[in-house]
Amino acid sequence: ISNVVEKDVAEVDINYKNREARLIRIKEKSPYRTKPKCPIFEKCGGCQIQHMIYSHQLEYKKRIVEELFKKTLKKTYTIKPCLGMDNPYYYRNKNQMVFGNDPKLKVISGFYVEGTHKVINFDNCYLQDDVTNKIVATIKDIMVKLRLSAYNEDRKTGLIRHVMVKRSFSLNETMVILVTGTEVFPGRNNFLKMLLARHPEITTVIQNINPKETSAVLGNKEIVLYGKGYITDCLGEYIFKISSQSFYQVNPKQTVVLYLTALKLANLSKTNTLLDAYSGVGTIGIFASSLVDKVISVELEKSAHLDAIENAKMNKIKNVRFFNDDATRFLINMARRKEKVDVVIMDPPRSGSTPQFLQAILMIKPQKVVYISCNPYTLVNDLQTLIKDYEINTIQPVDMFPQTNHVETVVLITKKN
Ligand code: SAH
Repeated sequence: ISNVVEKDVAEVDINYKNREARLIRIKEKSPYRTKPKCPIFEKCGGCQIQHMIYSHQLEYKKRIVEELFKKTLKKTYTIKPCLGMDNPYYYRNKNQMVFGNDPKLKVISGFYVEGTHKVINFDNCYLQDDVTNKIVATIKDIMVKLRLSAYNEDRKTGLIRHVMVKRSFSLNETMVILVTGTEVFPGRNNFLKMLLARHPEITTVIQNINPKETSAVLGNKEIVLYGKGYITDCLGEYIFKISSQSFYQVNPKQTVVLYLTALKLANLSKTNTLLDAYSGVGTIGIFASSLVDKVISVELEKSAHLDAIENAKMNKIKNVRFFNDDATRFLINMARRKEKVDVVIMDPPRSGSTPQFLQAILMIKPQKVVYISCNPYTLVNDLQTLIKDYEINTIQPVDMFPQTNHVETVVLITKKN
């Protein structure tokens, strides 16, 4: 039942036939319950568990992992306590808002109400960095002043569809991406002048053109309107280029915790060959490079692949080789050539890996696999294949997305003898 917290005493309406339950009222509040900071928490759908005190959120996520392992792998595993944040708000470095029109407010921005294409308007999101919140609010204001309207999906009129703001907390650089339905942008110079005057912290502005009927935010064509077209960010002792299109972790503080956790579990040695699969802009491979003999990185997206090559150069790293390929195809070919790797770190998207990828791992036989997962459901399914030859050693959840029900987990498995 959504909106009920463990230890709430609640009156619920149970429909046994449909196996559904509906909350009628909370009679006694759980000690784990707290008043959500955000006034639109219940309407928005961006956060799911802001009504739980943070320590309970961590416990809740640990339990989700525990139950999934038990249910799918038919064994009770010890799950390490979820590694949380000191300040679980304002942690995101990427703010992405959809724009819409409203008779009263004229231009609105926020998220879609879950399951709809109706925009819920807000100026302040408690997960987003404050600077990025203010920039989005300013853009709305400028649009109203310049009489520009937001893009209308049905009529294909209006201008701005989405605004994305990416920030480097470490180097204080800010990128604004204006996603428009057409290349024509009336009053573009004026718009830019007003925006930069009010936010001198902006270091680059990009217009991204997305004319397609799609749920993808970004289109393929881009025009750099101001600055160098990307930002750079430090994670640990390394520096990374962030472009508009490439995947980059959204919680930089916890990203360092996540990577160091993965590397600690991998316990690499100077003679090792490491495979970094689903490598994005090469961050994990670069983090690991000084600990191993060599790294092989594979990533499907061209833009992330190109960023990865540049990132290795910027960090003066020479023992990482980057391949722009589908991870499954790449691994099947490795297995065919009987190539060996000692350790695999894999970090697939939410959909998980593929059966063929997992079979290829079983053929390549690395000593260890560190599986970093942003979706425990696909994680346990994939592990089901690997436990044929591997033993699960450590299961460590890391809270990358406080206030939401997203769970990140790092798992170390080692080869059975
Ligand atoms: N390890 C990186 C990226 C993780 S996100 C980091 O920590 O930042 C997952 C990455 O997998 C994305 O960059 C995505 O583009 C890539 N990807 C998705 N499908 C893929 C596939 N079939 N083969 C290789 N990479 C893929």
